Amino acid sequence: MALLGANPALFAAAAFLFGLAIGSFLNVVIHRLPLMLERQWRAQSADLEGRPAPAGGETYNLVMPRSRCPACKAQISGIHNIPLLSYLALRGRCAACHTRISPRYPLVELATGLAFAAVAWHFGFGLSAGLAFVFTAYLVALTGIDIDRQLLPDILTIPLLWIALIASLWQASGDAVPPADLRDAVIGAVAGYGFLWLVFQLFKLATGKEGMGYGDFKLFAAIGAWLGWQMLPLVLLLAAVVGAVVGIALLAARRLGRGVPIPFGPYLAGAAWIALMWGPQIRDHYLAFAGLG
Ligand SMILES: [Zn+2]
Repeated sequence: MALLGANPALFAAAAFLFGLAIGSFLNVVIHRLPLMLERQWRAQSADLEGRPAPAGGETYNLVMPRSRCPACKAQISGIHNIPLLSYLALRGRCAACHTRISPRYPLVELATGLAFAAVAWHFGFGLSAGLAFVFTAYLVALTGIDIDRQLLPDILTIPLLWIALIASLWQASGDAVPPADLRDAVIGAVAGYGFLWLVFQLFKLATGKEGMGYGDFKLFAAIGAWLGWQMLPLVLLLAAVVGAVVGIALLAARRLGRGVPIPFGPYLAGAAWIALMWGPQIRDHYLAFAGLG
């Protein structure tokens, strides 16, 4: 531990490897959590309607059953389940049937590894880095699930909010954020939820359409609690900029019809991560630029 504290490069390298492993787990979360929730909802609605519960089948959670090839159902052995390396060694194909494996799996692992390394380098060994790893992992999982399902599950957004609020008890003034100051975190949670809720209601009044979901409000509340209310305008601005750039790129590539709903969660998550890392610098530059700093 002392070694990691004394050597930032070593800490960043260790964080990269740790991030690869966490990314591998996040792949499982992104793939399985929505399916687990669907099973739950089916069982609940059957119960409400007095129908017999749907057949249970095999246990299905984040640990069981072991990962299988979606094409041939061959179980993926430990040696073929090493983040990134297995994908490269197998040239992106299943070891048993040689069906192509989506590059998304190694990409999620690599992105998480790089993000963790950046966090370690930026914050150095300590509480802020540990919390930032947690925040980053949640943001990756939420992004993946929202892209796949247009869903930001409560089972992720609510604990994400709680973790930030509880951690803010440990903020001594002047320390790096996260954790945010308790007061800033509580106001951030309320302001984050309230602001998007208000935009949603006004948009609905004006157009009769629902422009986003309640999951977005909860995610923004959590972001406010993690970074403090002061960062919320910056996060919204960054999300809008990133969203516009990606939206235009998708339109240009004709990957997207007009009027197709685009999940907002990934942009919020990406913007929150940028604000986590460089928020204070961006804000200071902006204030100096505006002649207010
Ligand atoms: Zn296979």
